Amino acid sequence: MRYFPLFLDIKDKPVLLVGGGQVAARKFSLMADAGAKVTVVAPLLGQELAAALARGALVHHEREFAPADIEGAWLVVAATDDRAVNATVSAAANAARIPCNVVDDRELSSFIMPAIIDRSPVQIAISTGGTSPVLARLIRERLETLLDGSLGTLAAFADRWRVAVKAKFADIGARRRFLSWMLTGPVAAALRADRTAQAEELTRKALENADSLPAGHVVLVGAGPGNSGLMTLQGLRALQEADVIVHDRLVSAEVMDLARRDAARFDVGKFVGGGGATQEEINKLLVEHAQRGEYVVRLKGGDSFVFGRGGEEIDYLRANGVSYEVIPGITAALAAGAYAGVPLTDRRYSQSVRFLTGNSDDQVAQFNYSDLAAGRETLAFYMSVGRLAALRDKLLASGVKSDMPVAFIENASRAEQRVLVSTVEGMHRDAVMHKITAPSLLIIGNVAKTAAELQWFGRSALSAGGAE
Ligand code: SAH
Repeated sequence: MRYFPLFLDIKDKPVLLVGGGQVAARKFSLMADAGAKVTVVAPLLGQELAAALARGALVHHEREFAPADIEGAWLVVAATDDRAVNATVSAAANAARIPCNVVDDRELSSFIMPAIIDRSPVQIAISTGGTSPVLARLIRERLETLLDGSLGTLAAFADRWRVAVKAKFADIGARRRFLSWMLTGPVAAALRADRTAQAEELTRKALENADSLPAGHVVLVGAGPGNSGLMTLQGLRALQEADVIVHDRLVSAEVMDLARRDAARFDVGKFVGGGGATQEEINKLLVEHAQRGEYVVRLKGGDSFVFGRGGEEIDYLRANGVSYEVIPGITAALAAGAYAGVPLTDRRYSQSVRFLTGNSDDQVAQFNYSDLAAGRETLAFYMSVGRLAALRDKLLASGVKSDMPVAFIENASRAEQRVLVSTVEGMHRDAVMHKITAPSLLIIGNVAKTAAELQWFGRSALSAGGAE
């Protein structure tokens, strides 16, 4: 280990910054954030430091550096573009054994500054030992995506309860279990939802009933259309914390690979006629696990609130006193539009978009297609490959032009994606010919014709074929 990592308390302590430019300004703001009293030595101040001086945030000596400047400083930072000046600063600081950093010059530095992730009071510092600041930045960006914005709030919350928790649990194992519940379960969820009073109440109750199981929590997560890159960061974090994952068949293996390895997994897939679990069974499963104090992720394809029965599930959770969160996902219509090059509301062709399902003949018959017929609307049909003939007949009978464009997007965003461009009249015939299967999304409207040209992902669009 070349460098010794530490976190230094410089609040209200004098520090010296040599240099007045932009680089110096960046170091100034870091040290000022930590509460240091910064003295800047520089013949000239750039805009940012001049502004800080004007609001009284620093002391300025308007001249070249002199070795006596380091006296009394806890830290010295040299950020001039003149290496000779930097070397003089460094020599003076070293002689006085005051830690000194010369920006971007590890030879002249007795300490280096890490890339930081700041979720105060949580801080993560990343160092590559000065070998590659760019790499340190890349690592930081990756970690940033894994850490929720409420992490700092959570740490401060845990700190407030530290004494009470310690008093309640003499046994260190029990204390750890409680804290891990507090940092991942409904308390953390309440803090993420900006409900501090609720988090306090949950913690107080759990401490009072420390002998029984603490409350669990259910997170409805939209997994998106299957391509794992289309999950949200919040959804990913939930997957990585899950004790239990209850998922549909529509959720891809690629997404499941992102989940915590030792989470228990339940496939409750229920493709039409697929013989999966009933909704009632799923509801019970969620509640049962939450009541055991577990962190349950209910993972659904696309978005839970778009043809996903998410509403029924949270109704049931609420009725059973189980806390929940809902994290949206990219619904199939949005993914299909994007991945097939169909801008759903391109203003040249359409004023609105409707999400529909062709799940039953009734539904197909009930819709009003007048806006589509007038060429003003885009329709996105879910679950409808089994009812194309009925849908075609209904559309034609409603006055929709027979050459109105239709795009089928099968397995949108996945490696197996296929796009088929057809017309209302030919939609059933072409889908049968190309053996279009579920999951497929159907886009009907003038925007659908752009799929043939704007398609950019996977195989090029198939087109209508065969004689009528
Ligand atoms: N909640 C989901 C929809 C569930 S209904 C969502 O928001 O996307 C199931 C239907 O969604 C399928 O029949 C199909 O029409 C559509 N679907 C889901 N994933 C799809 C995908 N990757 N490509 C095309 N259609 C998809």
